[in-house]
Amino acid sequence: MKNLPTIFIIILICLNVYAQDDLDAQKRLPIIDMHMHTGLPEKIPAGTPSLCRPEPCEGDIPATVDPAQLLKKTLAVMDRYNIVKGFLSGVDLSIVKKWKQAAPERFIAAPFILKPGSPDLEKLRQEYTSGNLSGMGEIGTQLLGISPNDAKVEPYFKIAEELDLPTLIHTLGIGPYLPHFRSAAGNPLFLEDVLVNHLKLRLFVENAGYPYREEMIAMMYQYPQLYADVSTITWVIPRTAFYDYLKAFIRAGLGKRIMFGSDQMVWPEKIGVAVEAIEQAPFLTEGQKRDILYNNAARFLHLENTENNQVAHKTRSQD
Ligand SMILES: [Zn+2]
Repeated sequence: MKNLPTIFIIILICLNVYAQDDLDAQKRLPIIDMHMHTGLPEKIPAGTPSLCRPEPCEGDIPATVDPAQLLKKTLAVMDRYNIVKGFLSGVDLSIVKKWKQAAPERFIAAPFILKPGSPDLEKLRQEYTSGNLSGMGEIGTQLLGISPNDAKVEPYFKIAEELDLPTLIHTLGIGPYLPHFRSAAGNPLFLEDVLVNHLKLRLFVENAGYPYREEMIAMMYQYPQLYADVSTITWVIPRTAFYDYLKAFIRAGLGKRIMFGSDQMVWPEKIGVAVEAIEQAPFLTEGQKRDILYNNAARFLHLENTENNQVAHKTRSQD
């Protein structure tokens, strides 16, 4: 019993920490995370260090591979940083649906398309009609070496345009170490056929096509409907490389079409690192930071009141 005062003090400290977290979240303006996953498309052992490039390098966060644990940790970080919406995809649709059920107003649920044909289009159409899903992609067929203009991917763009779905695609120079992944299949110029054939498609490109800078800028100048996220590159590559890349897009005048993402995969702790990478960018004005963290995504997603966070706050308290 003589430990009682100590226990009491520990409880008080904990309460204070939680209260402080809540206060921090309240003080933070809302954020939209355009790139979240329920896990990885491939299985990895629990505790695997977070990804990093270029090698040799060492990841600093151990993987949380259990989906329920991952959900819990992801929601906790979303609360802490006032992330009011997340574009969420996963290969296993039953897990995507579970996450959506856990926080219906928080997630825009979408299928991860790894292999064309799975899930099949009729099943997907049902999921959209019933309201279980409302986004398309990440279309990750590049992980199997299939480029975006391949005829096998076309039906997914077609249905996404028809149903007006926000659509995310992995089209860039880097990706997971999978045997069939090809950097060359990720050249953003391959998007041109898709964009010409689907003028109303609301498409955004992971990592702004990193490191295909000129090609991506060409596509964004030529096709005003095309947006980009900065997600994995906020924490996987050296911060200097990320800032050089982001700065190039800002200097090119594309600051209204870049959206924040974390691509947390199985390392939810990286969401905070990603947010801070934007917040600490010395070359961004406060307005540019708000555009990347919230306003551009709100416009892209057709949320109301782009500059006004009332809707977002309301959404958050409804969870
Ligand atoms: Zn991703």
